[in-house]
Order: sequence, then structure tokens, then C-alpha cells
Amino acid sequence: MRRGRRSGLYTIVAVHSTARGPSLGGCRMWTYSDERAAVRDALRLSRAMTFKSAVAGLPLGGGKGVIMLPAGTAPPAGDARRDVLLDFGDTVQALDGAYITAEDVGTSEPDMRTISEVTSHVSGLAVESGGSGDPSPWTAIGVEAAIRVGLERTFGTDSLDGRTIAVVGVGHVGGPLAESLAAGGATLVLADIVDERRELADRLGAQWTDPRSALTADVDVVAPCALGGVLDDEIVPQLRCRVIGGAANNQLAAESVGELLADRGILWVPDFVANAGGVVNIAVELEPDGYDTARAEERVRAIGDTVRTVLDHADATGTTPLAAAMEIARRRVEEAETRDPAAA
Ligand code: NAD
Repeated sequence: MRRGRRSGLYTIVAVHSTARGPSLGGCRMWTYSDERAAVRDALRLSRAMTFKSAVAGLPLGGGKGVIMLPAGTAPPAGDARRDVLLDFGDTVQALDGAYITAEDVGTSEPDMRTISEVTSHVSGLAVESGGSGDPSPWTAIGVEAAIRVGLERTFGTDSLDGRTIAVVGVGHVGGPLAESLAAGGATLVLADIVDERRELADRLGAQWTDPRSALTADVDVVAPCALGGVLDDEIVPQLRCRVIGGAANNQLAAESVGELLADRGILWVPDFVANAGGVVNIAVELEPDGYDTARAEERVRAIGDTVRTVLDHADATGTTPLAAAMEIARRRVEEAETRDPAAA
């Protein structure tokens, strides 16, 4: 954690693990009540990145960046924004490659370009600049692959044709996801708190409803693509879907909700498995031959294989998909730590 010499703001990087490779995670620009809250958030998110990359089989560890904005302040613009991004870049550079940054809530591709003026440990630059570009369409491809495996396990076929799917939150990930599910022949129910998104429903011939009705709709699949914490003790008894797979992080309000879903016979694909498309795409930048769209697509679609591995492990051990995914990730990190104790 450092106080930026240009902006005077705190910039924080948490490196949770480098056992499997450099730690990678986005840079979140957010307001916090105090420095401790910001550090706690960075630590929590960096740990989640370790598990996300490990279960996806990536040669990456987990890290996270935070630019802490004081409570009640608006995100900086113009020169003030540039100052704090360069300060964050100095913090990244000080770690000498142990941490690679990327876009996250509150930052964008132009911000990554600014950070790259002071450090090369930046991913997610535009494809024209040799980067892997906007992660959201890749996340959507990965979520679709996860949904297809959920369908295969539940209905015996991964075909979208004739399936009914509710997408809750049609933003950067939910929007392209809805388009490709519709193109595959699914009948959609869409919802968002922003009413203008209704245009997408009209265009795709989808039903438009409110977020709660979409969650509890009588459909084959629900894809939560807005906020976390949407699956809790109160909503689970009301669900009518057979499969849940979506982009939103931390969908379960508590880990125990995973058991409630299993008891109800609802197949929940763990969010950090289904939504890894963005980081899988970034990892292609770090491959010896550099970034390539075709290779990225192949790797992101392979999220379907990861989901199969997780569900097989859950079946074999009689645990929930969440417990199975965590166990696979933990085992992979431990194996790497045993091979290279210095990197743990
Ligand atoms: P986004 O902000 O572009 O889209 C979110 C959409 O959800 C917006 O349209 C918003 O209006 C809507 N929304 C907000 N609250 C809602 C509510 N209560 N009910 C219904 N809709 C609501 O964000 P995004 O990039 O599409 O990401 C969606 C989720 O996926 C987030 O939780 C994000 O953390 C997660 N995620 C995104 C990526 C990525 O590559 N963008 C990768 C991994 C995880």
C-alpha cells in the first residue's frame, strides 16, 4: 500500500499467491470508508483470483489492485485521474512482475493505457496495441459454454434449441450472452434495472420483466449477470429453473446456499468457474506466441471442460459443485507450492 506522490491517494496491490505464476487481477477504483476496508477488499479479491485462475488451469496466481477513493468523492477525471493511474502504475512496477494488472470495476481500457506508461505489467490493452481487449464478450462466451454443460448434465443435450433461459442483468456480459443464446435457438426472459435495456429484449423477441420475476421464472436456466448475493435462503425455495450459470461474482449470499440448491436438484455452476472467460482471454497475452483471437476462443470455450471436471468431481465425492471447484483449485495451488516453495 502506497500513498501516491502525484495524487496523494492510496494505491493498494494485494498478491495472494504466485505459486502457479504471476498474480493477476483487475484494478478496482472505488470509494471506501477507510484504508483498512480498502486493504480488506484487495485481500479478499486477490484470494478469489487465485482460485479462479487455478480451477481454470491457468499458469497464474491471484492478485488485485485497489485505488482507494475517499468516501463521498466522485471518480477523478482529467489530470487528476491520470495522476492516480500513474501512481497505481508505480505501485505495480515496484512489484517487478509479481502482479499484473487489468480492468475492473471503475477502470477501463484507456486507464490501462495510462498505467502502461510507467509499467509493462499491464494486460487488457486494446487488440491493436497487442493486448487482449475488452474482456466482457469473452466472459459471455465462457458463460455460454458453462450453461451448455449444465444443460447436457440435466437434459442429456447441450443444445440451446427450444430451451428457456432467463438472463438477469443485460450489461457488458449479459447483453452479448443474450444475443448468442438467442442465436442458438433459446427463448429468453430478460431483466435489468435500467429500462432502456428493454430494447435488446424487443430486438431478440424476448420477454422483458423485472429482475426478481426473471430469477424465479419457470425456465430451464437462470443466468445471473448483475450483482452478487442474489441466491439466498429466501429465493432458493422459489426458484423454478433446473440450471444456474452466470457471470455475476459471488452469487451465493452464503456458502450454505450451495447445499440448498443441490437439495432442490438445481445444478449451480460455480460463478468463478463460469465467469473465468475474461481472465482466460488475458492469459493468452502471456503465452509465448502472444495474443491470438482464435487461440483465445479455443481456450475460453474450454471452460466447458472445466465445468465437466468440476461436476464429475462433485459427483465422485458426493459434494456440491462449489466444494468440488474449491478443492480442485486448492489442490493445484498446493501442488505448485510443493514444487516451488519460494513462490507460495
Ligand atoms: P455491467 O455493469 O456492464 O452490467 C451489469 C448490468 O446489470 C447493468 O445493465 C445493470 O443495469 C444491471 N443491474 C444492476 N443491478 C441489477 C439488479 N439488481 N437486477 C438486474 N440487473 C441489474 O457489468 P458486466 O461487466 O456485464 O458484469 C456483470 C457481472 O459479471 C458483474 O457482477 C461482474 O463483476 C461480473 N463479471 C464480469 C466480467 C467481465 O468480463 N465484464 C468478468 C467476470 C465477472
